[in-house]
Order: sequence, then structure tokens, then C-alpha cells
Amino acid sequence: MKFVDRLVSQLFKLDLRRRLIVGFLIATCLTGFIATVIGIWTINKSTIGEVQNRVRQDINSAKLIYSETLEKITSQIQFAAEAVDLHKTIASHDIAKMENLKGLIRHEDGTQSQEGDAFLDMLSVVDARGRVLYRAANPGVRGDSMFWEPVVKNCVEKKSIQTSTELMPIDDILRENPDLAGRVNVEIIKTPFSFESSEKQLSRGMVMMAAYPILDESKRLIGAVIGGVLLNKDYAIVDKIKDTVYQGEKYKGREMGVATIFQGGVRISTNVMTNDNERAVGTMLSKVVYDRVIGEGKDWVGRAFVVNDWYITTYTPIYDIDKKLIGALYVGILEAKYRDIKWNTIWINMGITSLGMIIAFIISFRLGDTIIKRIRMLKEAAESIAAGNLDYKLSPDKMSGFDMLDEAFNYMSKSLKNNNEMLYRAHQQLARTEKLTALGEMAAGVAHEINNPLGGILLYSNLVLEDIPLDSPARENMQKIIYQTNRSKRIVQSLLDFARTPTGEMLPLHINSVIESSLGLVRDQAMFHGIEVKTNLADNLPEVTGDKSRLEDVFLNLFINAADAMKGGGKLTITTTQGADDTVKILIADTGHGIEEKDFPHIFEPFFTTKEPGQGTGLGLPIAYGIIRKHDGSIDAESKPGKGATFIISLPAYLGRYSGMDSDVFYS
Ligand code: ADP
Repeated sequence: MKFVDRLVSQLFKLDLRRRLIVGFLIATCLTGFIATVIGIWTINKSTIGEVQNRVRQDINSAKLIYSETLEKITSQIQFAAEAVDLHKTIASHDIAKMENLKGLIRHEDGTQSQEGDAFLDMLSVVDARGRVLYRAANPGVRGDSMFWEPVVKNCVEKKSIQTSTELMPIDDILRENPDLAGRVNVEIIKTPFSFESSEKQLSRGMVMMAAYPILDESKRLIGAVIGGVLLNKDYAIVDKIKDTVYQGEKYKGREMGVATIFQGGVRISTNVMTNDNERAVGTMLSKVVYDRVIGEGKDWVGRAFVVNDWYITTYTPIYDIDKKLIGALYVGILEAKYRDIKWNTIWINMGITSLGMIIAFIISFRLGDTIIKRIRMLKEAAESIAAGNLDYKLSPDKMSGFDMLDEAFNYMSKSLKNNNEMLYRAHQQLARTEKLTALGEMAAGVAHEINNPLGGILLYSNLVLEDIPLDSPARENMQKIIYQTNRSKRIVQSLLDFARTPTGEMLPLHINSVIESSLGLVRDQAMFHGIEVKTNLADNLPEVTGDKSRLEDVFLNLFINAADAMKGGGKLTITTTQGADDTVKILIADTGHGIEEKDFPHIFEPFFTTKEPGQGTGLGLPIAYGIIRKHDGSIDAESKPGKGATFIISLPAYLGRYSGMDSDVFYS
């Protein structure tokens, strides 16, 4: 666990790209490993497990073939007894007739006798006491007793057919058939897997025997006929098992299925081959298998190393007539094929895993690169925005899969910019309002103070004028004083208007009609010659609450300013729309000379004018501003110097109730 912890903490110390790569590699490696393990487990369970079941059944077939041979011996000796009429021949000691039995003995050189399927190695006729009357394979020797042989003894005593596999001393075998000398001498070959054995050579042979009793007419035993087959180096049974059960199937030039007969722990008949491609006769069983099968008399099922390779095997014990364990019968299937399948699976899995790792490496490398690149780009963008560059934009890259992040970032910077601008405008407006408030208060105070003295001057000047004789030159001067005083009074009145902005009755009205009537007043005047007037007045506009004549003042002022700015021609466009938040918007745009950037912040200030002295008072816009404010609306301007100016008025829509706008206080 500690190791895993350390590994994880080491992993987190790596940079992002390496972390991705290592993570991906570990994941594919682990998946590949698990897939391989599961693959092997499945093969072991399904394939090898199946083979094991099969071998377990094959041993039964092998046993059947083994016992068939015993039956065949029995039927042959029965046939022999009939053929030479043994109960008569024995009674009459007709040895010459017994000689016909020779034909049942097979010959080592493979030449068959006249019977065709002769396969016995020994065939003897004994009398009722077990003494040999005739030996078909060794006719010269007779008169000795075979009663020592349990099969013969049982047959004579029980008067019934006896069959069994017996271990027989070599001398006795050779007495039965001297030609067997070549087959009985099985030399014991030690392999690293065999257990210790003091013997170098087997002293006995394994013989499959059958004894058939001969009875006379009165069912008295008069003798017996005994047949046998020496199993040592006789490959008929094992090869038949191989051919019948495994159909001689081969894998890479080797037999897939093999069978063996053991005498004790030594192979005496087998089709398991040594490395020199000879039958592995004389090699030994492994100690574990020996102890279990020949020691305890139990079957052995499982993997076993046989001579030079692994087999999936079953061993079953062979007993003699006295139920003594004398050997074993074995069948096995070469494991190599299934091992190869297993290794193929492992290699294929490893190949796929390696391929997966290479692909994972490439993907994680590329992915890491992209992620790092995008993170760097985002970082740069964030820094740039922090430094005040709100116009910074990321170009969304669909390929990288980061486009969502890019878009979100761009959206963020855009709304940051919008907010910033809104804040800036609000700040500007506040500053302007404050300035205009102060100016308004001051102007109102000054105008008020000057208004009364001016009244006095006018009154007394008129009185003086009346007293001046008609032909006096002072009269003209006095008239000039009165004229200039009147002019001052008008200016002061305007100032007072700006400051107090008296309003009449506030009533619901259609702004479009106010605009139309204002336009009617100026349209035909000389200053509008050469100016195209265009109106885009929206239908179904909500009403606004207001003082019609004061609003007309505002529009007249703006129209005249526009005409002033478009001396020599242009286009005046008046647009009305319904704005957001229940407002009505009026846009008055001209194509005149526009407002210089340096003048822009001052246009709503009283007495600010760029016109020639005597041409403008600088009070038009401040008064308009005052009136619109009085209507709870706002007025603003936009301008591109040289291209024209647009004044934007926004008024709240009338929603069926009067707002308390009858106060006389200017900047409330
Ligand atoms: P006045 O018209 O007497 O100068 P205003 O308060 O009406 O006073 O206008 C102030 C100043 O604003 C003008 O002198 C002019 O410079 C600028 N101005 C107003 N309207 C326009 C416009 N439509 N185009 C260009 N400049 C304008």
C-alpha cells in the first residue's frame, strides 16, 4: 500500500503532460494485463479443463480395449480346444494332434500362421493336475507342472475359465516360448524424473493370460488349455488405443494422444517416444504418480511430465488375479497444443496491449500538448484582460475541444467590457449631473440677483427717456441703454428658465404628434432649405406624460441646432421607437459637422457654445436637458466629428397614472 501511495504522490509531482502519459500508460498496461490473465484463466478452464474431462473418459475406452484383448485370448483358446477336440486328445494323449495348435502362435518376424489372426505368445495344454502335456511354442519341454501359476491353479480348482494379467518370471516365460527372449529383457532407463530403483533390468514379464478347463462327457475335469500374450514390447494394445481413441491425431509431427502399459513403474509397452524417436520402453513413472496409482491403487488425473513433455493424463491401476497391484494403464494428451494456444493468446494480448500503449502514448502526448497550449493561451488572455485590454479575443478552435472554454472566455471579456462601459457612462452622467446641478443653482442665484436691478434700470431709464427732449442727442444713448438692458433681461430670463424650468399641465400625449407639430413650425423656414427631413415614427407607441409646449421647445431647439450644423444641406432623421423598460425613445440624427471630442463633455453646460458671438447663447441644450429631466427622462448625444450628431431622448411611457411632476424644484 505504501508503495502505491508513494507512486501516486510521485505521479502528482510530474507536470501535466507527463502525468497524462503515465496515467494513460498505466491504464492500458493494467487493462492488457487483466485481459491476459482472464484470457489464460478462460483457456485453462475451458480448453484444458475440457481436455482433462476427455482424458478421464478416454481411460475407460482404454480399459475396454485392454479387456477386449483378454476376451480375444479366451475365445482363441476356446476355439483351439474345439478345433483339436481337446477332451478326446487329452484322454488319448494324442500329442501329434495337439501339434495343430502351433498355428495359433504368432511369430516375432511378423509372419502369420495359417490361422490369419494368430496373436498368442504362449499356448499350453495341461492335465488335471496341471502338468504340461503340450507346449505349442516349445513342444520339446513338457511334463513340468504349471500349477504354481495362479490362473492355471484357479482354473483347475474351480473348473471355470480364468483370465488375468500376471507377472511371470522370465525363465518361465522363456520356457513357454523361447522366441520371446528379445521382448522380455526390458532395461530400466533412469530419467531425472524417475525414482530410485536398484534393478537394472526387469526380472519378470507381464503376461495376459486365460485358462480354459477341458471337461469330459461326465463333466469331470481332464485338463486345461492355457493361452497368453506377453505385454512387454507388444504394442498392439497401446497402438489400438491410440488409433481408436485419438485417431492417430498429430500435433507438430508428434502424437496428440498416447497410451502406455506399466509393469510396476516401468514402461513396457508404449507409444510415447523418446527424443531419439524410439518408443520410451524402460523409462519410469514419476514418484508421485507411482505412489498414488501403484502404491495406493487410485487413479491419477492431471498434468504429468511424461518422458520429455507435459501431458494431460489419467493413470489407472492394473491388478493380477489375486488383486495385487502389478502395473498401470495410462492415456495422455499432449499439452503442447493447448500450451501453444495459451502462449499465442498471451502474445496476441501483449501485442494488443503494446499497440494500445503506443496509441495511448501518442494520444496522451498530443492531448497533453493541446491542453498545455490552450492553458497557456488562456493565461495570456487573462493577463491581457487584467492589464486592461478588454478587446482581447480567443479564436474558438473546434479541433482542440476547447471551443466551449474559448467561447465562455470571450463572452466573459465581452460582458466585462460592456459593464465597464456602462460604469464609465454612469460615472460620466453622474459627474455631468453634479456639475450641471451646481451650475444651475449658481445661474439661478445670479439671475435672480440681477433680474431685479435690471428691472430697476429699465424702469428708471424709461422715466429718464420720457424726460429727455425729442431733439436731444442723449435720447439715442438712452434708447441704446434700454435696448441693451432689455437684452440682458432676456438672457437672465433664459437663465431662470433653465434653472427653474417651469412646466404647465402634465398630460398623457402622443410623442409622434408633438414631433410633427414641432417640425411644422420650422420646416418651411429659410434655415431648413436644402435639408431633407425624414421621419420614422413608430406606430402604436405608448403615450407619455408631459407638458406639450415645453417638449416642443426641446424638439425645436434640437432641430435648429441640427440645421445650424448642416449649413449647406444634409439630412435630418427623426425616429421614434419603444425602448426597453416601458420607455419611448426619440432619436434626432443629422449629417452635420458633428461635435468635436473636446467639446463633447460640455455641450449640456449653460453658456457653452461654439457659435459666433451673437449667434448662440449656449442655453439651448441645458434647457432641453432641464425639461427632459423634469419629465423623468434622459437625454444624451452621440457624435462622430465630421459625420453628424445624434441626440437620443428617452421618456417613460404613461402607464395610466400621473407621476408627481408638478414640483418646481429643478434637480430633485
Ligand atoms: P447654442 O446653440 O446657442 O450654441 P446649445 O446649448 O444649443 O447652444 O448648443 C451648445 C453647443 O453644442 C453648440 O454651440 C454646438 O457646438 C453644439 N451642438 C449642439 N447641437 C449640435 C448639433 N446638432 N451638431 C453639432 N453640434 C451641436
